[in-house]
Amino acid sequence: MLKGKTALVTGSTSGIGLGIAKALAKQGANIVLNGFGDHAGPQAEIAALGAQVVYHGADMSKPAEIEAMVKFAEEKFGRVDILVNNAGIQHVARVENFPVERWDAIIAINLSSAFHASRAVLPAMQKANWGRIINVASVHGLVGSAEKSAYVAAKHGIVGLTKVTALENATSGVTCNAICPGWVLTPLVQKQVDAKAAALGLSNDEATKLLLGEKEPSMQFTTPEELGDLAVFLCSATGNNIRGVAWNMDGGWAAQ
Ligand code: NAD
Repeated sequence: MLKGKTALVTGSTSGIGLGIAKALAKQGANIVLNGFGDHAGPQAEIAALGAQVVYHGADMSKPAEIEAMVKFAEEKFGRVDILVNNAGIQHVARVENFPVERWDAIIAINLSSAFHASRAVLPAMQKANWGRIINVASVHGLVGSAEKSAYVAAKHGIVGLTKVTALENATSGVTCNAICPGWVLTPLVQKQVDAKAAALGLSNDEATKLLLGEKEPSMQFTTPEELGDLAVFLCSATGNNIRGVAWNMDGGWAAQ
Protein backbone atom coordinates (compact mmCIF):
# COMPACT_ATOMS: atom_id res chain seq x y z
CA MET A 1 0.00 0.00 0.00
CA LEU A 2 2.87 2.45 0.70
CA LYS A 3 5.28 1.33 -2.01
CA GLY A 4 7.20 4.34 -3.34
CA LYS A 5 6.37 6.45 -0.28
CA THR A 6 9.00 7.54 2.25
CA ALA A 7 8.41 7.66 5.99
CA LEU A 8 10.61 9.58 8.42
CA VAL A 9 10.02 8.31 11.95
CA THR A 10 11.76 10.24 14.73
CA GLY A 11 12.97 8.31 17.77
CA SER A 12 12.66 5.02 15.91
CA THR A 13 15.64 3.11 17.31
CA SER A 14 13.42 1.81 20.12
CA GLY A 15 9.89 1.22 21.39
CA ILE A 16 6.86 2.77 19.68
CA GLY A 17 8.85 4.51 16.93
CA LEU A 18 10.49 1.24 15.91
CA GLY A 19 7.09 -0.51 15.96
CA ILE A 20 5.60 2.16 13.68
CA ALA A 21 8.63 2.12 11.35
CA LYS A 22 8.32 -1.67 10.98
CA ALA A 23 4.57 -1.49 10.28
CA LEU A 24 5.14 1.15 7.56
CA ALA A 25 8.06 -0.87 6.13
CA LYS A 26 5.80 -3.94 5.87
CA GLN A 27 3.54 -1.82 3.64
CA GLY A 28 6.50 -1.11 1.35
CA ALA A 29 7.50 2.39 2.52
CA ASN A 30 11.15 3.51 2.48
CA ILE A 31 12.16 4.30 6.04
CA VAL A 32 14.35 7.02 7.55
CA LEU A 33 15.28 5.93 11.07
CA ASN A 34 16.34 8.35 13.80
CA GLY A 35 17.19 8.13 17.48
CA PHE A 36 19.98 7.39 19.92
CA GLY A 37 21.62 4.12 20.97
CA ASP A 38 22.14 1.14 18.69
CA HIS A 39 20.75 1.81 15.22
CA ALA A 40 22.40 -1.02 13.28
CA GLY A 41 20.07 -3.62 14.89
CA PRO A 42 16.80 -1.75 14.14
CA GLN A 43 18.08 -0.91 10.66
CA ALA A 44 18.74 -4.62 9.96
CA GLU A 45 15.26 -5.57 11.29
CA ILE A 46 13.65 -3.13 8.85
CA ALA A 47 15.86 -4.15 5.92
CA ALA A 48 14.82 -7.78 6.60
CA LEU A 49 11.23 -6.70 5.85
CA GLY A 50 12.37 -5.80 2.33
CA ALA A 51 12.27 -2.02 2.83
CA GLN A 52 14.94 0.49 1.91
CA VAL A 53 16.17 2.03 5.15
CA VAL A 54 18.64 4.78 6.06
CA TYR A 55 19.56 6.31 9.41
CA HIS A 56 20.14 9.90 10.54
CA GLY A 57 21.24 10.65 14.10
CA ALA A 58 19.73 14.17 14.44
CA ASP A 59 19.28 15.29 18.03
CA MET A 60 15.60 16.26 18.10
CA SER A 61 16.29 19.08 20.55
CA LYS A 62 18.34 20.87 17.84
CA PRO A 63 16.36 22.59 15.04
CA ALA A 64 19.38 22.77 12.67
CA GLU A 65 19.92 19.01 12.98
CA ILE A 66 16.22 18.35 12.29
CA GLU A 67 16.43 20.47 9.12
CA ALA A 68 19.59 18.59 8.07
CA MET A 69 17.80 15.25 8.61
CA VAL A 70 14.88 16.26 6.38
CA LYS A 71 17.34 17.40 3.67
CA PHE A 72 19.16 14.07 4.01
CA ALA A 73 15.86 12.16 3.60
CA GLU A 74 14.98 14.23 0.52
CA GLU A 75 18.41 13.61 -1.01
CA LYS A 76 18.09 9.85 -0.43
CA PHE A 77 14.46 9.32 -1.46
CA GLY A 78 13.24 12.53 -3.16
CA ARG A 79 10.60 13.54 -0.62
CA VAL A 80 9.21 12.78 2.84
CA ASP A 81 5.60 11.60 2.36
CA ILE A 82 4.95 10.43 5.91
CA LEU A 83 6.35 12.14 8.99
CA VAL A 84 5.92 10.44 12.35
CA ASN A 85 6.88 12.79 15.18
CA ASN A 86 7.57 10.24 17.88
CA ALA A 87 10.83 11.02 19.76
CA GLY A 88 10.14 11.68 23.41
CA ILE A 89 11.52 11.56 26.93
CA GLN A 90 10.01 11.64 30.41
CA HIS A 91 10.93 13.05 33.80
CA VAL A 92 8.87 12.67 36.95
CA ALA A 93 8.90 15.29 39.76
CA ARG A 94 6.53 17.77 41.39
CA VAL A 95 6.43 21.24 39.82
CA GLU A 96 8.34 22.87 42.69
CA ASN A 97 11.12 20.27 42.38
CA PHE A 98 11.15 19.93 38.59
CA PRO A 99 14.68 20.58 37.23
CA VAL A 100 14.53 23.54 34.82
CA GLU A 101 16.91 21.80 32.45
CA ARG A 102 14.57 18.74 32.28
CA TRP A 103 11.57 21.01 31.59
CA ASP A 104 13.44 22.65 28.68
CA ALA A 105 14.60 19.28 27.29
CA ILE A 106 11.10 17.74 27.41
CA ILE A 107 9.48 20.76 25.73
CA ALA A 108 12.22 20.75 23.05
CA ILE A 109 12.15 17.00 22.30
CA ASN A 110 8.46 16.16 22.89
CA LEU A 111 6.92 19.32 21.41
CA SER A 112 9.15 21.79 19.54
CA SER A 113 10.80 19.02 17.48
CA ALA A 114 7.40 18.21 15.92
CA PHE A 115 7.01 21.85 14.86
CA HIS A 116 10.51 21.94 13.35
CA ALA A 117 10.13 18.64 11.49
CA SER A 118 6.62 19.55 10.26
CA ARG A 119 7.65 22.96 8.91
CA ALA A 120 10.55 21.29 7.07
CA VAL A 121 8.47 18.56 5.35
CA LEU A 122 5.22 20.46 4.65
CA PRO A 123 6.21 22.42 1.50
CA ALA A 124 7.06 19.22 -0.43
CA MET A 125 3.91 17.45 0.83
CA GLN A 126 1.78 20.42 -0.23
CA LYS A 127 3.43 20.48 -3.68
CA ALA A 128 2.70 16.75 -4.11
CA ASN A 129 -0.81 17.20 -2.67
CA TRP A 130 -0.30 14.10 -0.50
CA GLY A 131 1.18 13.72 2.95
CA ARG A 132 0.61 12.25 6.38
CA ILE A 133 1.88 13.80 9.60
CA ILE A 134 1.30 11.58 12.61
CA ASN A 135 2.18 13.04 15.98
CA VAL A 136 2.73 10.49 18.73
CA ALA A 137 1.16 12.35 21.64
CA SER A 138 -0.14 10.36 24.62
CA VAL A 139 -3.23 9.95 26.75
CA HIS A 140 -1.34 12.71 28.60
CA GLY A 141 -2.29 14.95 25.67
CA LEU A 142 -5.88 14.58 26.91
CA VAL A 143 -5.64 14.26 30.71
CA GLY A 144 -3.06 15.06 33.38
CA SER A 145 -1.13 13.01 35.95
CA ALA A 146 0.72 14.34 39.00
CA GLU A 147 4.49 14.81 38.70
CA LYS A 148 4.46 14.96 34.88
CA SER A 149 4.12 18.72 34.31
CA ALA A 150 6.53 19.06 31.39
CA TYR A 151 5.35 15.86 29.69
CA VAL A 152 1.64 16.70 30.05
CA ALA A 153 2.23 20.29 28.88
CA ALA A 154 4.20 19.08 25.85
CA LYS A 155 1.63 16.40 24.98
CA HIS A 156 -1.33 18.80 25.29
CA GLY A 157 0.73 21.17 23.13
CA ILE A 158 1.32 18.59 20.41
CA VAL A 159 -2.42 17.83 20.28
CA GLY A 160 -2.95 21.57 19.66
CA LEU A 161 -0.23 21.64 17.00
CA THR A 162 -1.93 18.63 15.35
CA LYS A 163 -5.25 20.48 15.08
CA VAL A 164 -3.68 23.62 13.59
CA THR A 165 -1.56 21.66 11.09
CA ALA A 166 -4.67 19.70 10.05
CA LEU A 167 -6.74 22.88 9.61
CA GLU A 168 -4.09 24.70 7.59
CA ASN A 169 -4.01 21.78 5.11
CA ALA A 170 -7.66 20.75 5.28
CA THR A 171 -8.47 21.29 1.61
CA SER A 172 -5.43 19.31 0.45
CA GLY A 173 -4.26 15.71 0.46
CA VAL A 174 -2.08 16.41 3.50
CA THR A 175 -3.52 15.21 6.81
CA CYS A 176 -2.26 15.55 10.36
CA ASN A 177 -3.44 13.50 13.33
CA ALA A 178 -2.23 12.50 16.78
CA ILE A 179 -2.04 9.06 18.35
CA CYS A 180 -2.55 8.95 22.11
CA PRO A 181 -1.31 5.71 23.70
CA GLY A 182 -1.88 4.72 27.30
CA TRP A 183 0.82 2.55 28.87
CA VAL A 184 3.14 0.81 26.38
CA LEU A 185 5.88 -1.39 27.82
CA THR A 186 8.96 0.33 26.35
CA PRO A 187 12.22 1.42 28.04
CA LEU A 188 10.51 4.78 28.84
CA VAL A 189 7.85 3.00 30.94
CA GLN A 190 10.07 0.21 32.31
CA LYS A 191 12.04 2.99 34.08
CA GLN A 192 8.79 4.04 35.82
CA VAL A 193 8.04 0.41 36.79
CA ASP A 194 11.59 0.08 38.17
CA ALA A 195 11.20 3.30 40.20
CA LYS A 196 7.92 2.02 41.71
CA ALA A 197 9.43 -1.39 42.50
CA ALA A 198 12.42 0.25 44.23
CA ALA A 199 10.36 2.83 46.16
CA LEU A 200 7.77 0.32 47.43
CA GLY A 201 9.93 -2.81 47.72
CA LEU A 202 7.87 -4.67 45.08
CA SER A 203 8.73 -7.26 42.44
CA ASN A 204 8.67 -6.26 38.78
CA ASP A 205 5.30 -8.06 38.32
CA GLU A 206 3.74 -6.40 41.37
CA ALA A 207 4.97 -2.94 40.31
CA THR A 208 3.68 -3.51 36.76
CA LYS A 209 0.19 -4.49 38.04
CA LEU A 210 0.15 -1.44 40.32
CA LEU A 211 1.15 0.88 37.46
CA LEU A 212 -1.58 -0.50 35.15
CA GLY A 213 -4.20 -0.64 37.92
CA GLU A 214 -3.78 3.05 38.78
CA LYS A 215 -4.74 4.25 35.28
CA GLU A 216 -5.55 1.64 32.65
CA PRO A 217 -8.91 -0.18 33.11
CA SER A 218 -8.02 -2.91 30.59
CA MET A 219 -4.99 -3.88 32.76
CA GLN A 220 -3.17 -4.42 29.46
CA PHE A 221 -0.33 -2.61 27.76
CA THR A 222 -0.94 -1.24 24.27
CA THR A 223 1.76 -2.67 21.99
CA PRO A 224 4.06 -0.94 19.46
CA GLU A 225 2.59 -3.34 16.85
CA GLU A 226 -0.98 -2.11 17.54
CA LEU A 227 0.20 1.49 17.31
CA GLY A 228 2.01 0.63 14.06
CA ASP A 229 -1.26 -0.71 12.61
CA LEU A 230 -3.07 2.49 13.62
CA ALA A 231 -0.39 4.55 11.85
CA VAL A 232 -0.82 2.38 8.72
CA PHE A 233 -4.58 2.97 8.86
CA LEU A 234 -4.05 6.74 9.06
CA CYS A 235 -1.79 6.48 5.99
CA SER A 236 -4.37 4.50 4.01
CA ALA A 237 -6.85 5.95 1.51
CA THR A 238 -9.53 5.53 4.20
CA GLY A 239 -7.56 8.03 6.31
CA ASN A 240 -8.01 10.71 3.65
CA ASN A 241 -10.57 12.72 5.61
CA ILE A 242 -9.43 11.97 9.15
CA ARG A 243 -8.06 15.36 10.15
CA GLY A 244 -6.94 16.85 13.43
CA VAL A 245 -8.02 13.98 15.68
CA ALA A 246 -6.30 12.83 18.86
CA TRP A 247 -6.96 9.09 18.72
CA ASN A 248 -6.44 7.30 21.98
CA MET A 249 -5.41 3.66 22.25
CA ASP A 250 -5.36 3.59 26.01
CA GLY A 251 -7.33 0.66 27.41
CA GLY A 252 -10.07 3.01 28.58
CA TRP A 253 -7.77 5.37 30.54
CA ALA A 254 -9.35 8.61 29.26
CA ALA A 255 -12.89 7.21 29.38
CA GLN A 256 -12.92 7.34 33.20
P1 NAD B 1 11.59 4.85 24.07
O1 NAD B 1 12.44 5.40 25.16
O2 NAD B 1 11.53 3.38 23.84
O3 NAD B 1 11.96 5.53 22.67
C1 NAD B 1 12.22 6.90 22.55
C2 NAD B 1 12.97 7.13 21.26
O4 NAD B 1 13.27 8.52 21.16
C3 NAD B 1 14.31 6.39 21.20
O5 NAD B 1 14.56 5.97 19.89
C4 NAD B 1 15.30 7.49 21.61
O6 NAD B 1 16.62 7.25 21.13
C5 NAD B 1 14.66 8.66 20.94
N1 NAD B 1 15.12 9.94 21.46
C6 NAD B 1 15.10 10.40 22.74
N2 NAD B 1 15.64 11.63 22.79
C7 NAD B 1 15.98 11.96 21.52
C8 NAD B 1 16.59 13.09 20.93
N3 NAD B 1 16.97 14.17 21.63
N4 NAD B 1 16.82 13.07 19.60
C9 NAD B 1 16.46 11.99 18.85
N5 NAD B 1 15.90 10.89 19.35
C10 NAD B 1 15.66 10.88 20.68
O7 NAD B 1 10.14 5.46 24.37
P2 NAD B 1 8.69 5.12 23.80
O8 NAD B 1 7.89 4.69 24.96
O9 NAD B 1 8.76 4.28 22.59
O10 NAD B 1 8.20 6.59 23.43
C11 NAD B 1 8.00 7.04 22.11
C12 NAD B 1 6.96 8.14 22.10
O11 NAD B 1 5.72 7.60 22.57
C13 NAD B 1 7.29 9.32 23.03
O12 NAD B 1 6.90 10.53 22.41
C14 NAD B 1 6.42 9.04 24.25
O13 NAD B 1 6.11 10.20 24.93
C15 NAD B 1 5.21 8.43 23.58
N6 NAD B 1 4.37 7.64 24.50
C16 NAD B 1 4.85 6.55 25.15
C17 NAD B 1 4.01 5.84 25.98
C18 NAD B 1 4.47 4.62 26.73
O14 NAD B 1 3.70 4.14 27.58
N7 NAD B 1 5.64 4.07 26.47
C19 NAD B 1 2.69 6.23 26.15
C20 NAD B 1 2.23 7.35 25.46
C21 NAD B 1 3.08 8.04 24.63
